Amino acid sequence: MAPKLTMDKFASLCKRRGFVFQGSEIYGGIGGFWDYGPLGVELKNNIKRAWWKAVVQERPDVVGLDAAIVMNPRVWVASGHVETFADPMVDCKSCKRRFRADELAREHPEPEAAHGHAPLAYPTRCPECGGELTTPRMFNLMFRTYVGPIDVEAEFTRAIAELQGEDWERASARIRDLKDELDRATAYLRPETAQGIFVNFDNVLTTSRKKLPFGIAQIGKAFRNEVTPGNFIFRDREFEQMEIEFFCRPGTDEEWHKHWVEERYKWYRRYGIREENLRVRRLDPDELAHYAKDTYEIEYLFPMGWSELEGIANRTDFDLKRHSEFSGRQLTYFDDETGEHIVPYVIEPSAGVDRCLMAFMMDAYDEEEVRGETRAVLRLHPALAPIKVAVLPLSRHEDLVPVARRVWDLLRPHFMTQYDDAQSIGRRYRRQDEIGTPYCVTIDFDTLQDEAVTIRDRDSMAQVRVPIANLVDALKERLADCL
Ligand SMILES: [Zn+2]
Repeated sequence: MAPKLTMDKFASLCKRRGFVFQGSEIYGGIGGFWDYGPLGVELKNNIKRAWWKAVVQERPDVVGLDAAIVMNPRVWVASGHVETFADPMVDCKSCKRRFRADELAREHPEPEAAHGHAPLAYPTRCPECGGELTTPRMFNLMFRTYVGPIDVEAEFTRAIAELQGEDWERASARIRDLKDELDRATAYLRPETAQGIFVNFDNVLTTSRKKLPFGIAQIGKAFRNEVTPGNFIFRDREFEQMEIEFFCRPGTDEEWHKHWVEERYKWYRRYGIREENLRVRRLDPDELAHYAKDTYEIEYLFPMGWSELEGIANRTDFDLKRHSEFSGRQLTYFDDETGEHIVPYVIEPSAGVDRCLMAFMMDAYDEEEVRGETRAVLRLHPALAPIKVAVLPLSRHEDLVPVARRVWDLLRPHFMTQYDDAQSIGRRYRRQDEIGTPYCVTIDFDTLQDEAVTIRDRDSMAQVRVPIANLVDALKERLADCL
């Protein structure tokens, strides 16, 4: 079954219910940056916790790491990002729009490119206005920054002033110095979390005393200055990754690759993504990144079609070898059995938190007819649901409020809760259904007599009456899979 949500409807649900807001919205936003609201941050945290549980806590062979976002710039020379992490960009000479040449070529193939398997011919005409396009320039996707007290703009302004003073010699020397200074101060916001793991290989190996095969997992922000961000939070300029670098003996890499594809697929199923919306695709050789021997993608059927949720690459010994070469530090593993130093191979499952959030929400979204009305319900796995329990007094009657408040106080130390007493009880159930709250606890006038409340189940809408004294246990039992 295809997802029932269009991208527009999904984005509007996200905004209306406080999951995702446009970044810096009151200033007109900024392309490719998004802010997560009160429910979005809960959902994101739950996704990250569920991932960490599956790949670190439950496994005997993976440990965690949290490396810095800004790294020594030589890291990105060694990794190949300075040289090759770029997209071809073209500008329209008439309307000044900017496009990715490879995307244009796919979306608007030149007539002659339709024959045979010629490499993508880059279009020469603007798809918007028909104007002439520039020849493609490679645009590096890494965000640059400068570390230390260097004011690029002031330095350039001074050099330009000298140029205008016609002291050509001094100005050109000054610009050369400035260029050197800038080069020395240039750093990048990491375009992937992976390199933080590779450069810490030896530190983690020594301190954790792990034996091959073992993995290092990390969750963190990464940044890519995408030419054309888009599809809501699917392709962002700032995003969050959940990555594992799993180190194994050369020769066992294909086996471990298969293992991780299966494990990661199972994780999406475990947290509720339907089989029919999930598929595994092996990339064609011409789609592989410069470091990869083989890559599988776990794809989800998004409104724009099948798109990548997670890539699982066999990075071979590329990264460890490159960092050994560039840093002069041997990043090898001493094999006790054979007495040899080996460079492990690496399997890398790399998932995007923002994409996961989209997929989990879209897949959980459902609409059904209830007594002649449409009920929108987010059937999120309880572990992912932002709010686990809503506390709803039947009304704002002065006798009910103190009891309802007492029940809320009782639950807050145990669960993420919400208290809602606005509008009719039916409306409030619908609100909780739409944000995926698994259980609603209702306090009514009978509560004043019997010290019991009603637990209402999101999916079945069935209600059971439970004494307040047993409420925490009753909910813990139902939410057992959440911790
Ligand atoms: Zn144009």
